[in-house]
Amino acid sequence: MDKIQDAGSKPIKSNLLGHSHEGHHNCNHKDGHDNCKKPCREVLNEARQKLIDKKKKLSFEELTNLSNVSEKKTGELLALAHETRLLWCGDTVEIEGIISAKTGACKEDCKFCSQSAKHSSIIPATTFMSDEELLTAATEVKELGATEFCIVLATTGPSEQIMKRLEEVVPMLADKTGLNINVSSGILNDEQAERLKKAGVHRYNHNLETARSYFKNVVTTHTFEQRYETCLLVKKHGLQLCSGILFGLGESKEQRVEALFELQALEPNEVPINFLNPRPGTPLEDQPLVEPIEALRLIALARLALPDVILRYAGGREITLQHLQATGMTSGINGLIIGNYLTTLGRSPQEDLDMLSELNMPIGSLSNLF
Ligand code: SF4
Repeated sequence: MDKIQDAGSKPIKSNLLGHSHEGHHNCNHKDGHDNCKKPCREVLNEARQKLIDKKKKLSFEELTNLSNVSEKKTGELLALAHETRLLWCGDTVEIEGIISAKTGACKEDCKFCSQSAKHSSIIPATTFMSDEELLTAATEVKELGATEFCIVLATTGPSEQIMKRLEEVVPMLADKTGLNINVSSGILNDEQAERLKKAGVHRYNHNLETARSYFKNVVTTHTFEQRYETCLLVKKHGLQLCSGILFGLGESKEQRVEALFELQALEPNEVPINFLNPRPGTPLEDQPLVEPIEALRLIALARLALPDVILRYAGGREITLQHLQATGMTSGINGLIIGNYLTTLGRSPQEDLDMLSELNMPIGSLSNLF
């Protein structure tokens, strides 16, 4: 999963240097005066006191205020997110390799996804990969420094056949590689979540994707509540929860805050950050990309909303951020998916490893945070 754009409003043209306009307190909002109840400096100071001095999480109102700080204050917003990440999680970066073990022909209609059988995207459908293929991929990512390996399946939820294969391959891969083996296989029932825990699955991925209030605009074949319920089942059975967000589906600025706050309540261990990379043949193929500076502000906002999670760069970061990817690492990100994504090619693992080396950020597992 991946993708982007700014919501129902016109795309935001951001500028780190900001723009001047008649002053309102200390802020220089271009268009946010109706939302601006406090000076930006006060909003940032209050957030800092809470996250850094008191080590407490922010409220919905505080997050909303942060989402409205002026463009001139973007640097301070990113710096606060980085400070928050270092205090709550340290400087380690966790690396994960993912593999699409069963691709395409999905019965769901997620508008951003090229693996849906309901769109005209041309993604050849595959069956579940062999043990050898999975082991080769897992071994390769381990050699790159990954501590996590995620098996991703394009499906509504796991069939009995998929469940049996997962029960075979998860213990085999964990045993042979020593990696934490994670799974993403759609909506689960109670029994399936229990079986995956028994099979040794470390973390289960199921993204909320977007705000509850916007979800029906993106998916009609299942509901937000079904997704949420699976996330709760994952936690109930003692699996670590990975639940991500996809920015740029046409959601509003307010809905982005809503989605982050929803994730805060869910208390996941990991949150993959995706930006829409519009795929040909999907209903969102013409959706514009999220502006790079806006993407950095969203990363920072996600870290400020979720101070204690592994915030992982996932799909769409290359096309959205381009040469600003290192800045995301100092704006709250502390996890990477490396190499090839599900249906699009990521940049080379060596480029990511060089970036971490230049930033002096050590690589390691962050599972011990929980
Ligand atoms: S359920 Fe997953 S694989 Fe299927 S269409 Fe939605 S995002 Fe794509």
